[in-house]
Amino acid sequence: MKYTEIMVRYGELSTKGKNRKDFINRLGDNVRQALYGIDGLKIIVNRDRMHVRLNGGQDDDKVINILQGVFGIENLSPSVRVEKNVEDMQQMAVKMILDQYVTGKTFKITTKRQDKEFEFKTFEVNNLIGDAVLEAIPGIKVDVKNPDIELRVEIRSNGIYLSSETIKGAGGFPVGTGGRATMMLSGGIDSPVAAYMGMRRGVKLDMIHFYSPPYTSEQALAKAKQLTSVLAQFSGNIRFIQVPFTKIQEEIKEKVPEGYLMTVQRRMMLKIASMITEESGRNGIFNGEALGQVASQTLESMRAINDVTTMPVLRPLLSMDKTEIIKIAEKIGTYDLSILPFEDCCTIFTPPAPKTKPNLEKTRQFEKNIDVESLAREAIDNIQITTIHANEDYMNENEEIFAELL
Ligand code: ATP
Ligand code: MG
Repeated sequence: MKYTEIMVRYGELSTKGKNRKDFINRLGDNVRQALYGIDGLKIIVNRDRMHVRLNGGQDDDKVINILQGVFGIENLSPSVRVEKNVEDMQQMAVKMILDQYVTGKTFKITTKRQDKEFEFKTFEVNNLIGDAVLEAIPGIKVDVKNPDIELRVEIRSNGIYLSSETIKGAGGFPVGTGGRATMMLSGGIDSPVAAYMGMRRGVKLDMIHFYSPPYTSEQALAKAKQLTSVLAQFSGNIRFIQVPFTKIQEEIKEKVPEGYLMTVQRRMMLKIASMITEESGRNGIFNGEALGQVASQTLESMRAINDVTTMPVLRPLLSMDKTEIIKIAEKIGTYDLSILPFEDCCTIFTPPAPKTKPNLEKTRQFEKNIDVESLAREAIDNIQITTIHANEDYMNENEEIFAELL
């Protein structure tokens, strides 16, 4: 079937009273950004519907796929627009039903007439189309209660829209309507999933990623950016803040007892994240921690690490099992990237036996071996910020660079 547009329904948003306009505008922006890079689309945001005009090319499935991931969309229908005359409408309706028809299937026509000027009333349109279908497809039956194929017809001022499929959207709130926060994004499985969960509540996230060249490769950084690009499909453009962490890790390794390396390192990460969050006017820090998953994620560890900030630290995965997290990672398309073997800065400096129950007082004491304030400030002075769009390709870009070096 050659569709001309995807009709997007806001559902729950329609009931949001005076906030409705903000919600819809935000959703419109988010959809535009999610579809960034796909040429020739036209996005029209109306009060009660959004129309994504397709480019007549090969991208229909891709567009549907991406729209399904945008929070704030209740459902969507691939549609065909025809001119406002009975013959075109009937012909297209028959074609669309035939497209799905196999012997024994039933159908129903549901018409909405937004354009009250249109010469036929709703039930008349149902009959006009129904008759044409019955005549064109011998043996097909009408079933108004439980049809196999439901053809939706919307008569609007600028044309007639027909659709035979309603696809469930991601629900939730448009990203940005829930305020702004930062996200500590590694290259692992968990943090991208945690980001997804935060976004689903409408929170706009800036990614903070710590990297340690030359201990970590360009590819590890590219991977974090690539994950961000996948997440941008759900939230629109994302600010990606990369924080150089090499010097801090070397200092800690040199000056802090091995059992406390990891705890102090995590405290530095959280402290820096907290300063960036504060200075950029955001209101919380998300991370991918799940209680009990690894040494740094026991309650005792969380307490010893959380000690450095009063900023809310939000952990959407706190009580989830790894298998549940992996399932979501697969669904949102981050899993395959996350399991690529490029080591991030934590893996490399993780001692063989980190303390699973660090003592808070000792942690504070050992941390005094390094100059926390000036190291943190220096790292922040050297951050690099990029804006990452959906559908960008950081991995291959890098492959080319590497290929040239070989
Ligand atoms: P993930 O799969 O998200 O890496 P994990 O189970 O491997 O999580 P850790 O590596 O201990 O656990 O990391 C715990 C959390 O700390 C991560 O979910 C992430 O929020 C944050 N984090 C870890 N490494 C980095 C990094 N290099 N940059 C930014 N945040 C990080
Ligand atoms: Mg990790």
